[in-house]
Amino acid sequence: LDYLIVDLPPGTGDAALTLAQTIPLSGVVIVTTPQDAALSIATKALAMFKKLDVPIIGIIENMSGFACPHCGKVTEVFGRGGGKKASEALGENYIGDIPLDVDIRVRSDMGTPVVVAYPNSPSAESFNRLARVAAGKVSVLTHTKPAP
Ligand SMILES: [Zn+2]
Repeated sequence: LDYLIVDLPPGTGDAALTLAQTIPLSGVVIVTTPQDAALSIATKALAMFKKLDVPIIGIIENMSGFACPHCGKVTEVFGRGGGKKASEALGENYIGDIPLDVDIRVRSDMGTPVVVAYPNSPSAESFNRLARVAAGKVSVLTHTKPAP
């Protein structure tokens, strides 16, 4: 096993707290939304993980723009830039964004992620870029962090 990724429910509830207190985490990625509310969401999550001494890998903006499956036109349903603004305000690494794409949901439900089903799609490129950045940061954190 190279990476164990745990997808936590939104917020700073018991699941996140228990996980951080139970197993040594290499780091945490905060997934936020394009709205301005992104900053308050990211701020709360960051404060909790920092208090628990969990390194912050960075911030990702999810649901960032909807590409119409019919004509390809991008509509920013929830606005854009909340993740980047939150990253800058909090002095954290901005990893990138994931578009609002029906193929992500459809392919995930079918058991074939969009990165496998449509490897050259913008969504697949987003996921691959995020994975590269996060893996690179985890690698650096692992080599600079003293062993527990
Ligand atoms: Zn359209």
